[in-house]
Amino acid sequence: MKDKSLFRAWAEVDTAAMRSNLDVVARALPGHKRMPIVKAEAYGHGLEGVVRALDDAGICFFGVATIAEAARIRDAGCQTIPFILGPCFPAEREIIVQNGWVAALSSLEELEHFESLGKLYNKPVHLHLSVDTGMGRAGLLPYDLGGIGERIRACDFVKVEGIYSHLSAASEDISFTHRQIACYELAVAHLLEQGMELTYRHLCSSAAVFNYEAPSTNMLRLGRVLYGLSPMPSPYNAQLQPTMTLYSRVTLLRTLPENHGVSYNHTYVTTAPTKVATLGIGFADGFSHYLSNNGSRIYLNGSYCPVLGRVTMDQIMVDVSHLSSVETGDIAEIMGPHVPWLELTDRAKTIPSNIVTGISSRVPRIYLP
Ligand SMILES: *Cc1c(COP(=O)(O)O)cnc(C)c1O
Repeated sequence: MKDKSLFRAWAEVDTAAMRSNLDVVARALPGHKRMPIVKAEAYGHGLEGVVRALDDAGICFFGVATIAEAARIRDAGCQTIPFILGPCFPAEREIIVQNGWVAALSSLEELEHFESLGKLYNKPVHLHLSVDTGMGRAGLLPYDLGGIGERIRACDFVKVEGIYSHLSAASEDISFTHRQIACYELAVAHLLEQGMELTYRHLCSSAAVFNYEAPSTNMLRLGRVLYGLSPMPSPYNAQLQPTMTLYSRVTLLRTLPENHGVSYNHTYVTTAPTKVATLGIGFADGFSHYLSNNGSRIYLNGSYCPVLGRVTMDQIMVDVSHLSSVETGDIAEIMGPHVPWLELTDRAKTIPSNIVTGISSRVPRIYLP
């Protein structure tokens, strides 16, 4: 079903805007390679559509969370190699080695297992050493790095060609972030001293790219910034373009009398006769239940319309009493130029990535040319 006139909720994805956002980063930080982060359906934009559009955009690796995502990138015919961002359990490592994907190295046990898999399949295994500088999620601890260079050099199949770490509080704790950066710089210097060749050195993702300097890095991991959102104030933010607009359609129009409850448990009750539109989008599509009864609104026929009562699984009700014209089938903007991603984030009291990764597979994605 590709006919938009039959969609009740859909997302339009602007891949040209993504490429432009990558260009903004290239202009701001020349000399840095860029790794688009495309985990979780490319932050809800749809994995295949996004990786096909970015494969030839002068990028380095696609950052993913799972080997299933890596396999979909391969099957989409992309040349760019997937980089698995987090640690992998043993059965996953085997698939990684077979496919020549790049993974993180968080422990000596992993190093030995990857080396034996390289031997088994007679294939080089490319890894980036993960260092825990304060995130507490993955990587070797800095004081476990002594002698690692020697262990790596002793491997015949494992090639550690990169080093990376992840910041835990770049948008909230500047002094801790500076300590993490200093820790990372020390780790890089230490490993270079041990004779390691570190072709890819990465630390900063969206909250840090425009706001911190990490002198030894030469690659950036770009999630939210790729999709048009910089979490920190910066002179570059105004150049970033939004990449997704979410729409839904009016499925029913009625006038409810005064004192009529709307939606589950009647958290909203009309105070006057009210023209109510029912829309074909709900929390199962990604319009969060946390958007109930908190001033959230949609944009329809040139006006904002407040959401009434609770968001249900497949539908919401909005007040359209003030609209001069509205018909069944009319298209409402749920998120986009009039209802920004950050507005939904704030209303739902969550974080931006939680909003877009919640847009479900029931919502068709249309890629703009
Ligand atoms: C998800 C993820 C990113 C992307 O983060 P943004 O803040 O969206 O840019 C970068 N690095 C790692 C390790 C991640 O898991």
